[in-house]
Amino acid sequence: MTPTEWSCPVCTFANPIANGACEICGGGKRPSMAELVAAFRKQKDEEAAALNPVSEDDKKEESKDTAEKKTTITHENMVRLKFLALDLTKIIKIEQKRVFEKERLERLEKLRLEKVKERENKVEELVIKHCFLKKGLKVW
Ligand SMILES: [Zn+2]
Repeated sequence: MTPTEWSCPVCTFANPIANGACEICGGGKRPSMAELVAAFRKQKDEEAAALNPVSEDDKKEESKDTAEKKTTITHENMVRLKFLALDLTKIIKIEQKRVFEKERLERLEKLRLEKVKERENKVEELVIKHCFLKKGLKVW
């Protein structure tokens, strides 16, 4: 955004930016580009302020709101943290139970395998005894 006009300081006529001097009175000179831009920005700010007036009361109310919001957020965060801690405790307990259950199942599986091995050994022993008996050999 750039200014397209400049206001003559002598007669206040709005001259096009191309005019180096006021085309009405000839007395006013075009301000420097920096001055034009600064004036243009100031005008824009004033227009924006006119569209959205912020009274001192509004400003106070706003800062009060922000302060309350901060307190609420902190409180909310505290509640969230408490729930997170609770959840974490639950998760740890569930995980511990899972580990215990896994270990219990592993112990059962180990016992089962031992029994299977034991039975296999017995079957093997019986087969050997049977073979010996068939050959007429006494094994016990
Ligand atoms: Zn002029």
